[in-house]
Amino acid sequence: MAKPKRETHFTCMDCRESIALPDYLATGGAGYAIDVATGGRVCYPCCGKNDERNMRETGKGVLYLVARDGKYVLTNWPATLTIPVDGMSTSSHNIARTRTDVWFTFDGAQWHGTQYGDMSQICRVQRNKRERYVGHLAPAKLSVTGRFPTPPEIQNLKRD
Ligand SMILES: [Zn+2]
Repeated sequence: MAKPKRETHFTCMDCRESIALPDYLATGGAGYAIDVATGGRVCYPCCGKNDERNMRETGKGVLYLVARDGKYVLTNWPATLTIPVDGMSTSSHNIARTRTDVWFTFDGAQWHGTQYGDMSQICRVQRNKRERYVGHLAPAKLSVTGRFPTPPEIQNLKRD
């Protein structure tokens, strides 16, 4: 019986491109995401586009809050979508101990996200319905001592 040939490419179910699979041992990555609904494989650039479209359509998303090049950004898995954070503030939370709020601009609208605790970078984001920025926002700066900057850097946040 002939040995099954090792797969070298996969077809993205979204863009239909044939994409070379990475050397798993070298990179430790599969090179694609699995679509939960269909089990089909999706390339990384399409993951970013899909996440972006989902956010646009639903006004909601789940991203990761990470520090990159001295600034905080929101990113998806596998980091093919990156959104700079305009401002953030950390406060104490009775269960998770800390709660971090972030504000950012996406698709021409203001969004808000919340992240809980020190163990997780998961940030649930939502498009603002009533809140909007008035005035200037200080950019989120990377704290030298902790994961998140203190004191709060959000200023002049007002409701309509
Ligand atoms: Zn694709």
